[in-house]
Amino acid sequence: MAIDRRALIKSLAVGGTAVAAGVAPAMAAERKAAPPGAMGMLYDATLCIGCKTCVVACKQANDMPVESAANGGLWDAPTDLDSKTKNIIKLYRDGEQESFVKQQCMHCVDPGCAAACMLHSLHKDEVTGVVMYDPTYCVGCRYCMMACPFNVPKFEFEKAAPKIVKCELCRQRIKDAAVTGAGGFTRYPMGQGPACCEVCPREAVIYGRRDELLAEAKRRIAAWPGKYYKDRVYGEVDGGGTQVLYLAHVPFDKIGFPDLGTQPVPETAYAVQEGIYYKVPFLAPVGLFAVLGAVIYRNRRADSVGAAEKEDKR
Ligand code: SF4
Ligand code: SF4
Ligand code: SF4
Repeated sequence: MAIDRRALIKSLAVGGTAVAAGVAPAMAAERKAAPPGAMGMLYDATLCIGCKTCVVACKQANDMPVESAANGGLWDAPTDLDSKTKNIIKLYRDGEQESFVKQQCMHCVDPGCAAACMLHSLHKDEVTGVVMYDPTYCVGCRYCMMACPFNVPKFEFEKAAPKIVKCELCRQRIKDAAVTGAGGFTRYPMGQGPACCEVCPREAVIYGRRDELLAEAKRRIAAWPGKYYKDRVYGEVDGGGTQVLYLAHVPFDKIGFPDLGTQPVPETAYAVQEGIYYKVPFLAPVGLFAVLGAVIYRNRRADSVGAAEKEDKR
């Protein structure tokens, strides 16, 4: 859902008017559900062998540059999510207990990043529920980074016209033509799903409809009593639910997943917005929107100059 110019102006006008009038928007009272066609991933930490094939595949599928700072560019060895890495595998170890864990965007059912993004550069696809990024109107405010409880969105500090970087569930590869049933679980042809899922030699991470993935996770829990931590699927309800679901044999907080309760994530974002807009009187929003306009103009100009230069080189 890319926004058009009219939607942007409306958004700014509504925001500006409301703020100038000292009127706070309605708080996020409504509990949202994943759309019926919500897509996602299921990662089972008990199956992952830490081979990082998914990390390499993610880089290739998303045309991401290598991480060369720490190793002289000899090979690509990212150590965390950053502006060049949308997917990472980490190892948790405590005495005898250890587990690999895959980290990327969780595609929250009610995403804090999108709620914090006043220009809707980050937004949730209405059909698939994938949380997507449209850089056109991004002003680089980085509220999304503050609002994400999983520390996922990263910023291209190294670039003159920086953008936000995060997993978009390989949306460029996803096709509508999907499905061949297999064992009651929908499968997708090669090249039409997330690269990380396609290459995993252990099927530790699989792609599919969120409802089917959740059922699959519960099937595994029922099939192997005592194997999974508290017989729990992280993301079923956590933070209002996520479309990327996790099974693990170790406590989730040990492998980087905060205890969010069942409250939707955007409560954090509303707190941020409240602090910024409503505790500062009239002049602050006027200045803010003037700055936003200038940054949008700069970004769009940089894009058109880049496009013109590419055209000239042809
Ligand atoms: S809040 Fe974070 S994890 Fe959730 S959709 Fe946004 S970037 Fe992804
Ligand atoms: S879905 Fe695509 S972008 Fe996201 S982690 Fe997997 S390969 Fe990377
Ligand atoms: S490719 Fe599969 S097994 Fe290998 S690290 Fe990634 S999730 Fe784990």
